[in-house]
Amino acid sequence: MNTSIYKQKLENLRSAITNELETIAIHRVDVDDWVLTTESVEVDTADTNDHADIAEDSEERIAILSDLKTRYRNIVRALQKIEEGTYGICEISNEPIELDRLEVHPAARTCKKHLNDENQLPQ
Ligand SMILES: [Zn+2]
Repeated sequence: MNTSIYKQKLENLRSAITNELETIAIHRVDVDDWVLTTESVEVDTADTNDHADIAEDSEERIAILSDLKTRYRNIVRALQKIEEGTYGICEISNEPIELDRLEVHPAARTCKKHLNDENQLPQ
């Protein structure tokens, strides 16, 4: 399959997620993990309105961080699969993932049949 279009999409998604992560967390390169900032990161005035509300509630921030981290990891994993030539294969059944699923969710790890099992896969 031609993966270049998905690679481009995934790279765009990765920068978008990285930007979102940077509003609430810091990338610790030594452990390759994101940790919440204790205070809201300074943002450009243009972004202030968008992000003012997420700095408030730390429980909410933990939940947001966890969600973003999962999406980030899935995107990085999908990019690795493109390099390894295993992109677009369901991790559960080893069947090809439907193209319309990859279209809307290029970091998908499973085919449609195993959609509900995706969150049980190891991170
Ligand atoms: Zn499957």
